[in-house]
Amino acid sequence: MDFGIDAAMRERLEEARHIGRTEVRQVGLEADRLGRPIPVDHPYFKDCVARGEGRTRWSGPKGRKPEDRKGGPPMNAVIILLLTEEYSYWDRGVMVANPGPNLPEGNVLAMGTEEQKERFLGPFLEPDRPRWACFGMTEPGAGSDAAAIKTTARKDGKHWILNGAKCFIGNASRSDWLLVQATLDPSKGREAQRAFFVERGTPGLGGFKIEKKMGLKAYESTSFTLQDCRVRADNLLGGEARYEHKAGFKTAMRTFNAGRPIIAANSVGIGRAALDEALAFAREHDLLDRARVRDRIEAMARKLRMARLLCLRAGWLADQQRPNIVEASMSKAVAATVAQDVTALGMELLGTVGARGDHLIEKLYRDAKAMDIVEGTGQIQRVIMARQLVQLPR
Ligand SMILES: Cc1cc2nc3c(=O)[nH]c(=O)nc-3n(C[C@H](O)[C@H](O)[C@H](O)COP(=O)(O)OP(=O)(O)OC[C@H]3O[C@@H](n4cnc5c(N)ncnc54)[C@H](O)[C@@H]3O)c2cc1C
Repeated sequence: MDFGIDAAMRERLEEARHIGRTEVRQVGLEADRLGRPIPVDHPYFKDCVARGEGRTRWSGPKGRKPEDRKGGPPMNAVIILLLTEEYSYWDRGVMVANPGPNLPEGNVLAMGTEEQKERFLGPFLEPDRPRWACFGMTEPGAGSDAAAIKTTARKDGKHWILNGAKCFIGNASRSDWLLVQATLDPSKGREAQRAFFVERGTPGLGGFKIEKKMGLKAYESTSFTLQDCRVRADNLLGGEARYEHKAGFKTAMRTFNAGRPIIAANSVGIGRAALDEALAFAREHDLLDRARVRDRIEAMARKLRMARLLCLRAGWLADQQRPNIVEASMSKAVAATVAQDVTALGMELLGTVGARGDHLIEKLYRDAKAMDIVEGTGQIQRVIMARQLVQLPR
C-alpha cells in the first residue's frame, strides 16, 4: 500500500490547512457559540465561491473541452480523505455546511441522465453564488431501516406526486434541489424505492424546521414535509427508464457506502484536533511529566493512528478499484468510536476546565457523537461486517 501524495496534492493540503486556520475554525466556533447554522449570506460562503469551492465534479456537457473545466485536476480517494481529515480538524460542521452538490452528487453522476446532469449539476460548474443540494432519505420512522421509508411517489400523467416527511437532512432548507428517496409502493420494500429531484419553491414542499443538535452546529439538519408535491415526470433520477428498474435502493445505499471512509476521515480530524488541544493544555499547565497525563495522550495518539490507517486503506482499495465494503464499514465504525474515546480522554485531562463548557475539546466531544450515527450507525456497520466477514445472515 502506498499512501504517498505528489507535490501538487501536498500544496492543496497546505492550502486547506491555511483556510482552516484562518477561517474555518473561527466560523465554526462562532456558530457553536451562537447555537445556529452559518447563515446563507455569511461572508465565509462568498469566500468559498470566490476560491472556486462548491463546484461539481461533473466535467460539463458533452463537447466541453477538459481544459475549460475549473476546479483543479481530479483527485483520488486517498487525497480526498486526507483533505477531509484536514478540514474536519478545523471544523467538521463547517465542512458539511460548505456549498456544493455534496451528498447526492455521486448518485446523479452514476445514475442521472445527461439532461439531469445539465439541469441539476450545471449550475454548480461555475456557481455565481453559494449553492447547495441535499439527499433526503431518513424519516421520523425510518433511519437505520432505510427500506421502511413511507414517503410515496405516485404517477399522475406527466408528473409525480410526492407525499411524506423527512428529518435531519443536511442543508435541506438552503438547497436549490433536494434528492428525495420515495417509494412507489410501501408494501414492496426496497425494490419499489426511487429518487426524485424536488426543486426549491415547488408547491407542497415546506414545513422546514431546523433541528437542535448537541454539536456540529455550523450546518443545518432539517425536517421537511412533502404534501401533494408535484414534480415533472423527468425529475425521476435516471429518467423515466428507471420507472421499471429496481436498483433505486441499491443506488442510495451506494452513496452511503462511498461516504463511510469520509465519515472515518471526519472522525480522525476531530480526534486529531482534540489530541493537539490536549497536548497544548498539558504543556501550558506543566502536566507532561505526570503518568496519568502521558498515559492518556499515548492512548489518544495510538487510537488515532489505528483509525487513520483503516480509513486510508479503505480509500486505497477504492483507488485500486477493489471491493472495500468491509474496510469502509470497519473504518467508519472504528474511527467514530475512536473520535468519541479520544475527545472523552481529552475531557478527562481537562478536568473542571472541560466541565465549564468553553474549551475547544468540549465542543469536539459534542461534535464527535454524530460520527457514530450518520450514514449508518456503529451497530449497523457491525451488522454489515458480520455479514461479510463470517457470512452471518441478515
Ligand atoms: C447530525 C446528523 C446528520 C444527518 N444527516 C442526514 C442527511 O443528510 N440525510 C439523511 O437522509 N439522514 C441524515 N441523518 C439521519 C441518520 O442517517 C439517522 O439518524 C441514522 O440512520 C440512524 O437512524 P435513527 O436516528 O432513526 O435511529 P434508529 O434507526 O431508530 O436506531 C436507534 C438505535 O438502534 C440501533 N439499531 C437500529 N437497528 C439495528 C439493528 N438492526 N441492529 C442493531 N442495532 C440497531 C441503532 O444503531 C441506534 O443505536 C442525520 C443524522 C444526524 C444525527
